[in-house]
Amino acid sequence: MDNQKRFLLTEKEIPTHWYNIVADMKNKPLPMMNPQTKKPLTLDDMTGVFCKACSEQELNTTDAWIEIPEEVRNLYKNYRSTPLVRAYGLEKALGTPAHIYFKNESVSPIGSHKLNSALAQAYYCKQEGVTNITTETGAGQWGAALSYAAKAFGLELAVFMVKISFEQKPYRRSIMQTFGAQVVASPSMSTKAGRKILTETPNYQGSLGTAISEAVELAMQTPNCKYVLGSVLNHVTLHQTVIGLEAEKQMEMAGEYPDIVIGCFGGGSNFGGICFPFMRHNILDGKTTRFIAAEPASCPKLTKGKFHYDFGDEAGYTPLIPMFTLGHNFSPANIHAGGLRYHGAGSIVSQLLKDGMMEAADVKQLDTFKAATIFAQAEGIIPAPESSHAICVAIQEALKAKEEGKQKTILFNLSGHGLIDMSAYDMYLRGDLKNYEVSDSEIDSNLSGLDKIINL
Ligand SMILES: *Cc1c(COP(=O)(O)O)cnc(C)c1O
Repeated sequence: MDNQKRFLLTEKEIPTHWYNIVADMKNKPLPMMNPQTKKPLTLDDMTGVFCKACSEQELNTTDAWIEIPEEVRNLYKNYRSTPLVRAYGLEKALGTPAHIYFKNESVSPIGSHKLNSALAQAYYCKQEGVTNITTETGAGQWGAALSYAAKAFGLELAVFMVKISFEQKPYRRSIMQTFGAQVVASPSMSTKAGRKILTETPNYQGSLGTAISEAVELAMQTPNCKYVLGSVLNHVTLHQTVIGLEAEKQMEMAGEYPDIVIGCFGGGSNFGGICFPFMRHNILDGKTTRFIAAEPASCPKLTKGKFHYDFGDEAGYTPLIPMFTLGHNFSPANIHAGGLRYHGAGSIVSQLLKDGMMEAADVKQLDTFKAATIFAQAEGIIPAPESSHAICVAIQEALKAKEEGKQKTILFNLSGHGLIDMSAYDMYLRGDLKNYEVSDSEIDSNLSGLDKIINL
């Protein structure tokens, strides 16, 4: 086969700016709200918890392009551009006329896309004289990325790791500790939010929502300390647009433009990261690309949640975010895609979904592992359980194209590798994994308290 398979950019071609889609959106997301004043969140409200540069980016609705600081770009060069790969093996395995491409973010030194924002946020904190940072982590991918980024910029980091992942994925904890971070299983007894949950539910396995509460609480109580978030917020997704901006140039090298772009969905950062630079052309140039967010059937905020103001965390410390949510008290099943066990979605993607600019699909755990196995055998890469959700939808779309006898160009983001998730694969191979779904009544009862917060 003499067709080119792998597309890379030179250092000079690595994007110099991130793309802020809010500037181009016809309907802007509703403002986030300060839960105390019930007024739109101000810069001052945000800088109590987050560093100033990220707070400014969060509230920026006018600048479409925001420069990537030179120090951050230099660190990006250690692993970027990441390859855009034509998945010939997968196409053949499926016998589809579709052209399937994936953007391989798993080649980052930490194994996922998370480093793209971790480096940026650590850099800004250092610039502003912050000495300590706190964060949460689910599967440990974000914690691992931030641990390295904190070390790169000389910051002390405390990570609250969701307890189920702390136990299921001990090697991610070792990675964080190797980079010098303090790692605590959440819920912990070291914060008020953690103690409250542990007293009420001693066996609680933790959730991202709880871990965020603990990390925010510690940051607010520690001098010279800021909280850093790995997904959901606008500035995190902004940093991840480096993925889609590279992919745009690489697709051009391949001489194609995607009909469908797919990303798995936890809080929306890798999905927005790969999609927004292409969605820009839907908004500005009349392109008709479809964008599909792939979420777990066990945590279906986009397909079954409600659009409402809700907290980003369990205890209610964060601003109120206008989002598709299952309710901040939602306790997701213990699926292995830890990075997707989050009750809500970012405000930008929520608005885009409401406006029909994108779609969402929910996938069952066993189907994601089946898709992961097909992909692994065809392409030689073990995907992260999170990324396998995107692969599963990509395969569905490729098979649909086969049925319809249509040539489609499909692009998905391989957000990370699964080499530290082999215990989950073991369980799948042994037949010990199962599907979890949430009933409508469970969702309704969990959402019933939301109207008390702020009515839309
Ligand atoms: C964290 C994570 C996700 C989900 O987070 P998003 O912010 O929705 O991208 C997806 N894939 C991997 C590999 C992750 O580590």
